[in-house]
Amino acid sequence: MRMNLLVAILLLLLPAPVGAADYKTKNLVLVTADGLRWQEVFRGIDPLLMELDEAGMKDAEELRTSLWAETPEQRRRLLMPFLWTDLVSRGVILGNGARGAAVTLRNRHRFSYPGYSEILTGRPQDDVIDSNTLHPNPLPTVLEILRREWELPGAQVALFGSWNVFQGIGAHDSEAVFINAGYQRLGIAGATERLRELSRLQFEILTPWPSVRHDYVTFEMALEYLKTTKPRVLYIALGETDDWAHNRRYDRTLATAGYFDDCLRNLWAAIQSDSAYRDSTTLIVATDHGRGSTPRDWNSHGAKVEGAERVWIAAIGPDTPAGGEAHDTAGVTQSDIGPTMLELAGVDYRKLTGVEGKPIDLIVGR
Ligand SMILES: [Zn+2]
Repeated sequence: MRMNLLVAILLLLLPAPVGAADYKTKNLVLVTADGLRWQEVFRGIDPLLMELDEAGMKDAEELRTSLWAETPEQRRRLLMPFLWTDLVSRGVILGNGARGAAVTLRNRHRFSYPGYSEILTGRPQDDVIDSNTLHPNPLPTVLEILRREWELPGAQVALFGSWNVFQGIGAHDSEAVFINAGYQRLGIAGATERLRELSRLQFEILTPWPSVRHDYVTFEMALEYLKTTKPRVLYIALGETDDWAHNRRYDRTLATAGYFDDCLRNLWAAIQSDSAYRDSTTLIVATDHGRGSTPRDWNSHGAKVEGAERVWIAAIGPDTPAGGEAHDTAGVTQSDIGPTMLELAGVDYRKLTGVEGKPIDLIVGR
């Protein structure tokens, strides 16, 4: 009797094995907005840029009026109302350096392929990923690992991207998961009429950029795919926030950030109204890199642009405590996103080859 008690006490004292935590997350949805600065996310419209004719703000009186308020907290709610009222009140957001919660890149390049790859593989690969050329990811991504570990058919792990380079970034083995990115016809047998319409539409409503289609097409395709195919893992990669900034169109950058917030609202509503996803889905929202912070370099990013290493991460889901705006977090990096997804999936995150990140406590609820 006394022996049994001793054994019971000893068992209680043993540490739980990795991956054994009882998470409620059964589906994972990742959404990114390319190069959406922490400045807009945490402070809304930027007073340094909003009057600049050379940033496309000459005829933007209406936009300025609708987004301006006295405090950064009011301004960010006007720019991204879903993020700041719904998501953050029930989830968490990291990245505000002023509150000691900066999130940084580990890769030194500070542009897109290295950033997205860092998200999906949990580490930088600075020497082998040093351009935005379309080529397969040198390492297996979290998408491929989730497909293998959860034993899913390829269609159950899907990536929809506005930028064509996601055809490479998303997977080491391009056949392993479903990817539709850039101007790419959607070749799905038995696709719904809505999906076929969107596939046609992308070639009719062209953007100014040859490799990036409209976020509208990408998001609506992903939403329809979510509703009809019900993937367990979905990654939606939106791109226009970066391209309008490169074009020095702050007006369009702001409008696209607002559209991104609309997308998050519609996506979360779809998730929470579907019994396949309701209260069993974690949504993670992030960006691939920051940008400059002055009227001279706000539009740009890269190794030499100061501040382009600063990013942000938000999450909502059944395992994430309502932490609100994070403060005093130490050393959170972009490499932590992939490991966080695997941890929530009940998979040992060290299955990511040479992983350098680790699960984010505030998201996995530890
Ligand atoms: Zn860019």
